Amino acid sequence: MSNVLVSPIGPDISCQSWEIEGLLRLFLNSIDPRVAESSKDLIVYGGRGKAARNHDAVQAIIHELQTLSTDETLLIQSGKPIGKFRTFERSPRIVNASSILVPAWSTDEHFRELISKGLMMYGQSTAASWAYIGVQGVLQGTFEIMGEIADRHFDHTLRGKIVLTSGLGGMGAAQPLSVTMHGGVSIVVEISEDKIKQRLKNNYCDIKVDSLQEAVQLAQEAASAKKPLAIALVGNVSERYREALEIGFIPDIVTDQTSAHDLHNGYIPSGVTLEQAAVLRKKNKTHYHHLIKESLTLHDKAMVSFKEQGAILFEYGNNLRNQAYNAGFKDAFNIQGFASEYLRPLYCEGRGPCRWIALSGDPEDIYRIDDIVLEEFKHDQRVIRWIKYVQEKIYFYGLPARTCWLNYEERERIGFIINEMVKSGELSAPIAITRDHSEGSTMAAPYRETEKMFDGSDIVADWPILNAMLNASAGASMVSIQNGGGVGVGNSVHSGMTVIADGSDEASERLRNVLVVDPGMSIIRHADAGYEQAEKSLDKLYMGKR
Ligand code: NAD
Repeated sequence: MSNVLVSPIGPDISCQSWEIEGLLRLFLNSIDPRVAESSKDLIVYGGRGKAARNHDAVQAIIHELQTLSTDETLLIQSGKPIGKFRTFERSPRIVNASSILVPAWSTDEHFRELISKGLMMYGQSTAASWAYIGVQGVLQGTFEIMGEIADRHFDHTLRGKIVLTSGLGGMGAAQPLSVTMHGGVSIVVEISEDKIKQRLKNNYCDIKVDSLQEAVQLAQEAASAKKPLAIALVGNVSERYREALEIGFIPDIVTDQTSAHDLHNGYIPSGVTLEQAAVLRKKNKTHYHHLIKESLTLHDKAMVSFKEQGAILFEYGNNLRNQAYNAGFKDAFNIQGFASEYLRPLYCEGRGPCRWIALSGDPEDIYRIDDIVLEEFKHDQRVIRWIKYVQEKIYFYGLPARTCWLNYEERERIGFIINEMVKSGELSAPIAITRDHSEGSTMAAPYRETEKMFDGSDIVADWPILNAMLNASAGASMVSIQNGGGVGVGNSVHSGMTVIADGSDEASERLRNVLVVDPGMSIIRHADAGYEQAEKSLDKLYMGKR
């Protein structure tokens, strides 16, 4: 294998089985320069989320996988392979733990110290579990949330509605596209002109404007004509939101996806340019932090005012409320969290973010599966709209992949179908079936997925650990447990799983088990917490009978 860090493609394999080869390809795909944010630093996404601890570990992982037997299990600790043991052919080929600290020491400070000693790495969510597939993953999460809002508040569409949001970064850029996909109009405030240029070039936004008045006028005209339009507005979120309130502009939906989780290098305080911020944060830290506190408070207050005047308001997982609260704004949490409000009802039914990756490297394999999904799930308009739109708008880079939110029984069904397609030769090579970590039983995160649980179990982290152990018992090819994800060290515990569908009968059995227990646990976790919808869904579960 060459030193170039890209996934092999095609029918020839360098490992002892397709199951192991599939995991090797996923690993190399995560650090492929076309997929990873910074391949040379092994950063996959999300600031510092990595797939391997260092370059020596990369070579060691490749070597270990190429020499792994089909009845052995490889152990990976924070991105470094540390040994392998004989287990069973049906056991996971990899068990993986990253960024986990003893709870009382689970702080960023301790973690940074361990990183500087070379003892750990930050795994983000799908970075350490080698299931990252680029912007498509976050795009579908945002699409589902906008779809849920449309279903719940606006007759299943955002046509004629205006969304005010901010941040056109790696994840935030999915916002205007998702609103467009549901027929709505968006105004996205972004401080960086370069980011706006990039988003215009990729067609994520349609037009750039410099004044709020112009943005509002264009938005209202498009909304009246029931036409989608994505407007990028240059400016600072804290200032622009207050300005909108001053002129009496109340959008239908308000949120924000600036990098408020990172007050050191991410969020830009009001009153300074990007260039001034870069200087100030080095030269006058105290003044810079004072500006940040002021800005966050006014930002959060403005959002709460929109809600008081009738807008639908939610925080989009960037830790804004907590930061504003710590900055001294006591009502900062008068904003609902996106996960508890819009995703939890889906978790209660076992609906969640499935994804499949073509190990052949051939996009045709994904398009063939798309055709089956369009036929098999034609009753689900959201799935149809998603597949058709994403086929047109999203191009593949690295291994071709598709993400798709599916219901409880549908996940088992698609797993079976894909494995049969591999078996019959309809697909040119095996497929990896995996998912995001942001799921019903797989993420304990009190500021996101498990915020305000009905029974108060927000900080209980038994669930993702149980999920990982159950997936390992059920036959997943790789199982991961991690700490931190998108909310930072100490703020979440989560788990990942992957099964390689290689067309064998054994893979069929593994898929049947894993794709039942994984979403099934989401239903059980929410039924246990007292959610009526989940209690009703319990009837669907396989609980000891087959
Ligand atoms: P990013 O750092 O790539 O982008 C942030 C953008 O915000 C940048 O373009 C920056 O120029 C802009 N910005 C910063 N301060 C601003 C200000 N005051 N006014 C206007 N623009 C400003 O981050 P990202 O990957 O896009 O993620 C954004 C945030 O959303 C992060 O906090 C991330 O953790 C969170 N996030 C949440 C979820 C989720 O829960 N659904 C998913 C992904 C990301």
